[in-house]
Amino acid sequence: MSTPVTLETIRTAPKVLLHDHLDGGLRPQTVIDLADAGGYANLPTTDAEELGVWFAEAADSGSLVRYLETFAHTVGVMQNTDAIIRVAAEAAEDLADDGVVYAEVRYAPELFTEGGLSLEQIVEAVQEGFRQGEATAAARGKKVRIGTLLCAMRQNARSLEIAELAVRYRDAGVVGFDIAGPEAGFPPTRNLDAFEYLRQQNAHFTIHAGEAFGLPSIWEAIQHCGAERLGHGVRIVDDIKVEEDGTVHLGRLASYVRDRRIPLEMCPSSNLQTGAAASIAEHPIGLLHRLRFRVTVNTDNRLMSHCSMSGEMAALVEAFGYGWADLQWFTVNAMKSAFIGFDERLAIINDVIKPGYAALQA
Ligand SMILES: [Zn+2]
Repeated sequence: MSTPVTLETIRTAPKVLLHDHLDGGLRPQTVIDLADAGGYANLPTTDAEELGVWFAEAADSGSLVRYLETFAHTVGVMQNTDAIIRVAAEAAEDLADDGVVYAEVRYAPELFTEGGLSLEQIVEAVQEGFRQGEATAAARGKKVRIGTLLCAMRQNARSLEIAELAVRYRDAGVVGFDIAGPEAGFPPTRNLDAFEYLRQQNAHFTIHAGEAFGLPSIWEAIQHCGAERLGHGVRIVDDIKVEEDGTVHLGRLASYVRDRRIPLEMCPSSNLQTGAAASIAEHPIGLLHRLRFRVTVNTDNRLMSHCSMSGEMAALVEAFGYGWADLQWFTVNAMKSAFIGFDERLAIINDVIKPGYAALQA
């Protein structure tokens, strides 16, 4: 008898997360505590429950200004090493408690220098926090491994500097690089020197592309910049035509993405908030899963989207009727697409993921 697929049982299944923002995953109470300790006076409320609701509503409002305000608060309270260590440690614990066994958590170091921290101090604080959180979780019997991605902000001109930082810390837990921030007006090709440098260093990177912006952004990310994965990549469906009789035609770019097994870091709840999809049931992930693209499921911003890895999977189960085999497929896809070494990925797939799902289906 297979275990029923519910939110509670999904929490016990091993899961892999590739797209999660450190400054988008704070606990509401932690935002309040850190604001208090750091003298940050701009929070809309100091009641944790109200603040959690405020974050979700502001992110849900459809207003970019209100959405960005949510990050002004989380980034605003993370301007000293103690705060950064605590946020990273709690992120590792929260992911472990949710049954995540491997995660790549990303952040833009350049956002945390307002209090005078150097980029190196910021990276080292995050790594220290993750190590602490992994150890705390392990003591509770939950094993999680966290890799870090360093983001450069598209609107700033520091991508080469951040890429060099990522390479400098690659033996200390930084597994890759990303560019984030507004897609419109800031094409990934503005950062070609950073991507060129990373390729010469045999380093890994993903690019936020095809979230709000269309196919040109995806095409540039892959063919000009050399991105190994796509952050979101939702708009790849614009290059797929489904006839009334169900016949599917893939354009050349969509074919390339599928043929080359380019991983799509899809974030269902977050995509609803930014208007990239109208509902989970209408989210392109259903079609892309059916067409066997290399689809992965992710959280993006757990605080703003009021979501978890298990919650995202449960929402997909409800919308598309997925079972354990589908959830295992998403999980193995994600693990195959991670930026850690092949042998380490294989070990997690064979020793943790496959036995975990086998037990649930036994
Ligand atoms: Zn993102």
